[in-house]
Amino acid sequence: MTATLPTPAGCAVPARPEKGLPVLRERGQREVFCGLTGIVWLHRKMQDAFFLVVGSRTCAHLLQSAAGVMIFAEPRFATAIIEDKDLAGRSDAQDELDRVVGELLARRPGIRSLFLVGSCPSEVIKLDLGRAAERLNRRHGPAGVRVFNYSGSGIETTFTQGEDACLAALVPALPEAPADAEPNLLVVGTLPDIVEDQFARIFAALGIEQVRFFPPRRSAELPAVGPTTRVLLAQPFLADTVRTLLERGATHLRAPFPFGVSGTTRWLTAACDAFHIPSEHLRRTCLPMAERARVALEAHRRWLAGKRVMFFPDSQLEIPLARFLAEELGMELAEVGVPYLHRELVGPDLEALPRGVQLAEGQDVDRQLDRCRAARPDLVVCGLGLANPLEAEGLATKWSIELIFSPVHGYDQAGDLAELFTRPLRRRNVLTV
Ligand code: SF4
Repeated sequence: MTATLPTPAGCAVPARPEKGLPVLRERGQREVFCGLTGIVWLHRKMQDAFFLVVGSRTCAHLLQSAAGVMIFAEPRFATAIIEDKDLAGRSDAQDELDRVVGELLARRPGIRSLFLVGSCPSEVIKLDLGRAAERLNRRHGPAGVRVFNYSGSGIETTFTQGEDACLAALVPALPEAPADAEPNLLVVGTLPDIVEDQFARIFAALGIEQVRFFPPRRSAELPAVGPTTRVLLAQPFLADTVRTLLERGATHLRAPFPFGVSGTTRWLTAACDAFHIPSEHLRRTCLPMAERARVALEAHRRWLAGKRVMFFPDSQLEIPLARFLAEELGMELAEVGVPYLHRELVGPDLEALPRGVQLAEGQDVDRQLDRCRAARPDLVVCGLGLANPLEAEGLATKWSIELIFSPVHGYDQAGDLAELFTRPLRRRNVLTV
């Protein structure tokens, strides 16, 4: 059964209750970055991988400016520009690609994984990168290079989907875990190395010994997967990756995402339950870290409690972050917009949201801006393209992409995560005093 929310200009938008939460579903103009953006953090994580975007000069400019590459650095990404003659069919784009890849691998012998990344132009001209990857694997596989392909295009995607598509493309290359292997934990989603190392130390202290992270830092360290694999997600935007891991027999551990004290504790609890670690051992192991994080959050709570925040749909982190801000810092949620509502992945965070909070799935940017102006929240979390106009209208904003680029997971980063939300309010306070 559907309800109808009142909307301006007599237009009806169907709303469905989400376990007591109203969900506004919108399909309209979107303001998001494309999936190529994921290359910025993926290439830093996978140290012997190279990302070759098959796209236009626009794609090259996006990557160059998003990654902020220094002129003397040899970045591990590039764009093979589709020229007019390719678009006009005067040259065979597959031949051109073979030539570019051959030159690249000859110049950069350290590359072990090569990702061919599709873009809007390559999809528009229907360049078959799957076929190209197969052919290039036959040619360069004997030299120890594996070639993968995925789409990072801006056609029907939001920017974190690039990582999902990349990892889903990697799953078929993961070795098979023997059916009688010890149960093993696979933490899925790109984490900064410093955060990954912290979690590895916590799992070791808890007594969970078989722990791997995906994606790995090096291509030779691809983790095995099979029926004994327990998947613990570190990022909420990996629906396709999880599906492909489940198809390989793995089990998904349902948990909130490890933001703040409560989120991190419940995330670790899900792992402990799966490995029969007593909750008292978890409590004793994590108590000092949790206490430190609680103290760090307290300073920010004074700024944030009672303030109203609105999320525009962008990073797919919105539901877990809304849970963190409402539950752990006392913020009120004016509206939580998400590009997609993956209930099976964000369910535990969704269930912890305050009753009655307005959720919006998809985007119709003009309508959202109207609701934002009417609500006048204290803080708006949105993409770069919306932040400046909203600041000019007197609203404090936080760029959602910063939440992806910064280390924000786990106990030790809880204070830094809260700081990302207090900073715009402090800045506005200073400017208006
Ligand atoms: S993939 Fe599409 S949206 Fe992304 S930079 Fe290239 S043309 Fe633009």
